[in-house]
Amino acid sequence: MQGLELLVDFHVGAERQGPGGEAETLKALDLANVSRESPLKIVDLGCGTGASTLTLAKHLNAQITAVDLFPEFLDQLMKRRDSQGLVDQISTLKCSMETLPFEKDQFDIIWSEGAIYNIGFKRGIELLWGFLKPGGKLVLSEITWLTNKRPSEIEKHWHEEYPEVGMASEKMGILEANGYSPEGYFVLPERCWLDNYYDPIESRFEDFLSRHGNSESATEIVESERKEIALYKKYRQYFSYGFYIARKCQK
Ligand code: SAH
Repeated sequence: MQGLELLVDFHVGAERQGPGGEAETLKALDLANVSRESPLKIVDLGCGTGASTLTLAKHLNAQITAVDLFPEFLDQLMKRRDSQGLVDQISTLKCSMETLPFEKDQFDIIWSEGAIYNIGFKRGIELLWGFLKPGGKLVLSEITWLTNKRPSEIEKHWHEEYPEVGMASEKMGILEANGYSPEGYFVLPERCWLDNYYDPIESRFEDFLSRHGNSESATEIVESERKEIALYKKYRQYFSYGFYIARKCQK
């Protein structure tokens, strides 16, 4: 196994594939201010193994389409869905969020935690606008600078990894310029990175390396995760994921 296949193998056993938490998904849901009783149609983009999908399904009367590029993640999501008795609420779709097969004006909520960066924030929100019902809600988490100035090491790292990294005011400006009215924002606390994401990652290193006979590619993945974790610990006061909740309005 190499490259992407190996990366998927590293992440597939996890409850989540990015920083986040059940309490934060529910906080964002509160800010979206939608009914918990009325039937809702939702899509969860870049759902991974379904951390947010399962939480939404448990707390809403919703039909949720969970979309991801990798069938291995969706298989895992379906196992979790079935064991939690949520079969009727969740269906999966293997597809890129760049080529979604949906009709216009379909969804009450478009949800995406830690995934829109894969196609870029601006491009993503432009593409998604048409799929939301008028007044529908867009709920996204996106890497965000927490301060106006940053040490050059972390500034350089994020600009190379994701040139669209920006402050919340910039992201909200992009939302406003593209037919959305921001209705809520908050920052993921450290617990969402450390307890919920990085600690479980660290606990999988040894088993992952031994399963792959300490291959060069497996070692590279572990080294790259270690580097990312060290950077987070060193510079956590400068960046996090920001949660953005916005309503579709006229363009
Ligand atoms: N929302 C999940 C996963 C976040 S990681 C969570 O919070 O745990 C980002 C996810 O986006 C991964 O599951 C990855 O497979 C998926 N992904 C990457 N590029 C994608 C694309 N173009 N279309 C759909 N999903 C994509």
